[in-house]
Amino acid sequence: MRTIKSKNPYTGEELQEFNLHNDREIDLIIDSAQNTFLDFKETTFKERAQLMQKTALILEQRKNEFAEIITMEMGKVLSEGISEIEKCAWVCRYYAINAESFLADKTIETDASKSYVSYKPLGIVLAVMPWNYPFWQVFRFAAPALMAGNVALLKHASNVPHSALLIEEVFREAGFPEYVFKTVLAESTQVENILGNRFVKAATLTGSGPAGSSVSSISGKHIKKIVLELGGNDPYLILHDADLHLAAEQCTKTRLLNAGQSCIAGKRFIAVESVYQEFVERFKIEMSKVVMGDPMQAVNIGPMARHDLRDEVHEQVLESIKKGAILELGGTIPDSEAAFYPPTILTNVKRGMPAYDDEIFGPVASIIKVKDEEEAIKVANDTTFGLGSCVFTKDEKRGEDIARNRINAGACFVNQFVKSDPRLPFGGINESGYGRELSENGIHEFVNIKTVYVK
Ligand code: NAP
Repeated sequence: MRTIKSKNPYTGEELQEFNLHNDREIDLIIDSAQNTFLDFKETTFKERAQLMQKTALILEQRKNEFAEIITMEMGKVLSEGISEIEKCAWVCRYYAINAESFLADKTIETDASKSYVSYKPLGIVLAVMPWNYPFWQVFRFAAPALMAGNVALLKHASNVPHSALLIEEVFREAGFPEYVFKTVLAESTQVENILGNRFVKAATLTGSGPAGSSVSSISGKHIKKIVLELGGNDPYLILHDADLHLAAEQCTKTRLLNAGQSCIAGKRFIAVESVYQEFVERFKIEMSKVVMGDPMQAVNIGPMARHDLRDEVHEQVLESIKKGAILELGGTIPDSEAAFYPPTILTNVKRGMPAYDDEIFGPVASIIKVKDEEEAIKVANDTTFGLGSCVFTKDEKRGEDIARNRINAGACFVNQFVKSDPRLPFGGINESGYGRELSENGIHEFVNIKTVYVK
């Protein structure tokens, strides 16, 4: 029997070994999920909302326990894990309250005596999820998908199996019938078999570009809908009239949250010449204040999720330095068992360096100096990605104009680092993926938008 082991990235100790499902077992699970779907799709919004409200309650009641598991499996600071679970409760409640109105029939006047759009669940939706927010990534998909009447199959990242099983447990404890939400412990190579199954109707993947490309090829082959939430190298513009105190503080927060392992973290900080020097100094001061240590304690950042991921980040830093970037802070691996990487700042970052072209999924800030606002916008858009972005300026109107009209990304915030919110659509363009999660848009991704026409 094949197994996976979870490992604590702070202590380096092996936590637990889990048996993987084989393809035959997964096929049987899918059969059961399909049978469950046939009943579940007939439940009312009210019935599903009651179960989803209960789910939220359980998350709140057990948040400390779940946060501890998250910290042990992937090194997130405990307090951040607790906030993550609270946010999961929020998204459950949000869809429990709003799903029915989001999916109400919509009348459209035509030559028919009656014509309207009706939203129907699709069936089994497969979620391939990453480890960086092991609960949040799953709940932000599952809450709308289940409220729409679908059933869900989770293939989580291999380093968070305990979290994956706990999520299934929460839905069961809340009273959802077995197989409405099911975790399969599987390797990435088994995704093809799952997505190829005729009962699996759609998929969502949150993860890296290569994973997105591979899974979307499979969904393409089988003609199945997919939503992709991939990486980014989000630009943050610091304009000549920016509040530099605010900018330095916010840029530090976005870059170090979750030890820098957030898709919507600011990654390229683009400062105009007139404020560049002061911004770099202030950013350095803020980043230096950070306490790195045992994630179970009150520290600012813990270790990265795995040692190999930490080493990859270090490689990208070294490669950027080799190509001319200047190391202003951090950049050395501490002598420790833990997968620590220190807050790091690179300046003189230019196109052709990993720090400019690629996503660095760790606590590394790339600072780019530009002449003026126009060049800042040009550099911001000089990317293959397009997830989040942010502009710092005291001129709110100009900031809004840049955010709305000039930056190519799924979101652009002004004077506030990008954060997800159940009420707002979330997703990217270009190599950051396609489709949207959260908000009314998110629940429309996994429904059949059905036209009904009565003459
Ligand atoms: P990853 O290596 O791509 O893994 C994500 C998930 O995909 C895991 O479950 C993984 O399974 C699976 N997977 C990987 N390769 C696969 C393949 N060829 N076929 C099928 N499944 C495959 O990403 P990660 O390291 O966990 O997460 C970091 C990346 O996710 C970053 O690029 C980050 O920006 C992105 N991300 C994006 C968002 C967003 O909303 N846009 C949010 C969070 C993270 P195994 O673990 O078994 O390999």
